[in-house]
Amino acid sequence: MQIKRLKLSGFKSFVDPTELRIEPGLTGIVGPNGCGKSNLLEAIRWVMGESSAKSMRGAGMEDVIFAGTSTRPQRDFAEVSLLTVQEQGELFNAVEVGADGELEVTRRIERGAGSAYRANGRDVRAKDVSLIFADAATGPHSPALVSQGRIAAVIAARPQERRAMLEEAAGISGLHVRRKDAEQKLRAAEANLARLDEILTDME
Ligand code: ATP
Repeated sequence: MQIKRLKLSGFKSFVDPTELRIEPGLTGIVGPNGCGKSNLLEAIRWVMGESSAKSMRGAGMEDVIFAGTSTRPQRDFAEVSLLTVQEQGELFNAVEVGADGELEVTRRIERGAGSAYRANGRDVRAKDVSLIFADAATGPHSPALVSQGRIAAVIAARPQERRAMLEEAAGISGLHVRRKDAEQKLRAAEANLARLDEILTDME
């Protein structure tokens, strides 16, 4: 998966609609303190399905919405879109991709209404979005998104944490999501069987 464009509106300090083209290769974000470098990286993580407000440096998820300044009122929603293109041989099982292989994922949060996702304009579930990115060996915790201080964290990581990073990079994390799903279904089926046994015993 190649990321081509990031669009933000009302997200943290990016109150006005902002668009960034992301070229192939390594992209670095530089700028003075407080200009919004980390906010951009967080926007990518957020649209990929980040569910922890803490990792967005907020107390609740609505803290990603522009909070207002002395000259501008707060906004009621934040929206981030990520345009991606499929690489040869890649398959996004969770959603339909256009003939050009392009897939635009959008996440929007409204005050008091929570988050909603769209993929190429269609409403999708958070789970679908997490599978899209996990299958493409990326996602909110991808080691390809390197924030300030992250290099030092990798060096200091425990073996288990490094393993999780390698699994993300290798694209195995999508399988973990599916395994969790399958285990839940199995538990539900086992509960149904146990209930059935009880009913049969009662009838005998
Ligand atoms: P540094 O280099 O110091 O780490 P940075 O370039 O990474 O800074 P960010 O941390 O991305 O900067 O941006 C910080 C700015 O974003 C602060 O001015 C903060 O007030 C603003 N900000 C964060 N959340 C919101 C919000 N919800 N509404 C408005 N502004 C916000």
